[in-house]
Amino acid sequence: MFIVLLGPPGVGKGTQAELLSQELGLPHVSSGELFREAIKAGTALGRKAQRYIDQGKLVPDKVTIAMVAERLNQPDCAGGAILDGFPRTIGQAKALDKVLAQRNASVDLVVYMNGSMEMLLQRLGGRWTCRNCQAVYHILHNPPREPGKCDLCGGELYQREDDTAETQRKRIEVYLEQTAPLVEHYRQRGLLVEINGELDIPGVYAQLRAALDRIR
Ligand code: ADP
Ligand code: AMP
Repeated sequence: MFIVLLGPPGVGKGTQAELLSQELGLPHVSSGELFREAIKAGTALGRKAQRYIDQGKLVPDKVTIAMVAERLNQPDCAGGAILDGFPRTIGQAKALDKVLAQRNASVDLVVYMNGSMEMLLQRLGGRWTCRNCQAVYHILHNPPREPGKCDLCGGELYQREDDTAETQRKRIEVYLEQTAPLVEHYRQRGLLVEINGELDIPGVYAQLRAALDRIR
């Protein structure tokens, strides 16, 4: 089962992908996270991606597609994956179809999560991430038990460099220009289910589960 979580930065894709991944036992594949790992490891891919990420722009399709295709071809993705942050362009969506077709698979469901601009900025501005295990918290809506410390592994929490006010706005702008057209793309193919990202974390998850139950 291949499930795509689509929506603007900060809407809660990563948070929901993690919950779904645990429940379904499918890997959570986040292209943003793969880039951050490459940056941390200091690889050539990481150096290339960083220039774009720092400016809130999309990393070019060629690089992104190759990275995600390689991840999806790993054995743990044999039974499917929860895709978070990929595809983000029509070119990436077409490439994903090709990668999956090679193994007689296809995208089963696209969950489109949405919310107001005000909500997105508030969520991005309060996001804290664990440096060690990448768990995501929110200073108001999902705070860690101890300030600055991950509940799951005790790792240090940090604010992403691309969550500054200026980059947040740029990323939302880029989303509207380059990624939002995917909503119609998947709607026309009958794969899209729209859910309200404004509810609290369990409220959004309940809608996601209901969407999944309908296609199963
Ligand atoms: P995305 O992956 O779409 O960029 P995240 O999952 O990282 O979004 O969530 C962005 C921020 O919003 C995080 O700080 C997260 O803890 C918080 N968050 C996620 N979902 C909700 C929700 N339903 N209600 C309140 N805060 C949320
Ligand atoms: P995210 O973790 O999804 O918020 O992504 C962080 C940043 O990584 C984005 O702002 C982009 O610069 C880059 N990125 C992540 N996924 C993609 C993608 N599918 N295509 C292009 N760039 C991406």
